[in-house]
Amino acid sequence: MPIFESMDNYGHEKVAYHQDPRTGLKAIIAVHSTKLGNALGGTRRWYYDNELEALHDVMRLSEGMTYKAAAADLAMGGAKSVVMLPKHGHEHTEDEARSMGQFVDTFNGEYIAAEDVGTSPEFIDWMAQETDHVMGGDTVSTGGDPSPFTSQGCFNAMKASLAHVGDAVDFSGLKVTIQGVGSTGYYLAMLLKEAGATVHATDINQENLRRAVEQAGVIALDSDADIFKAECDIFAPCAMGAILDADTIRNLRCRIVCGTANNVLADPVEDGALIKGQDVLYAPDFVANAGGLIRLAGLYLGMTEDDVDAKVAEIETTTADILELGKTHQSNHEAAVAFARARIDAGGMTTA
Ligand code: NAD
Repeated sequence: MPIFESMDNYGHEKVAYHQDPRTGLKAIIAVHSTKLGNALGGTRRWYYDNELEALHDVMRLSEGMTYKAAAADLAMGGAKSVVMLPKHGHEHTEDEARSMGQFVDTFNGEYIAAEDVGTSPEFIDWMAQETDHVMGGDTVSTGGDPSPFTSQGCFNAMKASLAHVGDAVDFSGLKVTIQGVGSTGYYLAMLLKEAGATVHATDINQENLRRAVEQAGVIALDSDADIFKAECDIFAPCAMGAILDADTIRNLRCRIVCGTANNVLADPVEDGALIKGQDVLYAPDFVANAGGLIRLAGLYLGMTEDDVDAKVAEIETTTADILELGKTHQSNHEAAVAFARARIDAGGMTTA
């Protein structure tokens, strides 16, 4: 699809392409909305089959960031960037990161970069040598790994989900199945275990799975077990997106889906309605996984650690409000988008 047509469809303000022949960097920054403020969103390094695939990814992800920030009541817009790798698993270099930092800097703070798939605190700190507008590093930039905050926010969304289905907000005796115990899934497993739940998990990375078993007391599911058919109270997708579609939704044996992964529904409109029809409560992903954004955006905006913690705690009430709103919508996803859009249309946050 031509770029302007794509921008019209998604409602983007600005899309910029950049290449640096010296480092080989090819990157796109998409600013979806700055209505509520400058826009923070991760930098994804990924191998795409073609340029259109990269464009589609950055457009979709940046739109999601707008809704995530608005639903979390942050003075932030939505943006994202992608670095198109020349091949799968292409190693990062300081030169590449600094070149990306220079590209980010051309936005003068309208776009603030952060970590995403394929980037690390080290990469962020290299970018930060070239721009002040990047968050999530350990040395030059600040914020560090946001994953523990994402997991805490998801745990809070689980509490709201339990209350919504009429259960006691008590994890003891509950069975939770986690898909993917990398960063966020691992921290989530720790919180759930501490709260008394039994946690089962799968991961295609055996090392990550072993760490979760040994350090978080997780029970590993059989490698060929179908995680979607696992009987449990809560299913937490904490790996890749687009895992719930017409096939997997029909197989679900849980009462609640609430995880950290982005874009869990393959088709947000159709699959959102389908899961509602199956009587499985779906906690909208961009609401449940906003803790990491709250942390980095919050620090960027000058919040204290206490302010950040209070805002991550608010995910519980926000989720509860959206689930209530979901009763009058085709799906909880649709309700979450309507909730976020209402805040954007009103032009501001209610707090902070
Ligand atoms: P991560 O890479 O640290 O962990 C993901 C884990 O999922 C890895 O261990 C990987 O091996 C595993 N995995 C991949 N495919 C799998 C499969 N098919 N079955 C089982 N396991 C599989 O990533 P993360 O930072 O924990 O992020 C997880 C998800 O949460 C992503 O969708 C990410 O976009 C989203 N998210 C993360 C944050 C954050 O703060 N890190 C914030 C918001 C959203």
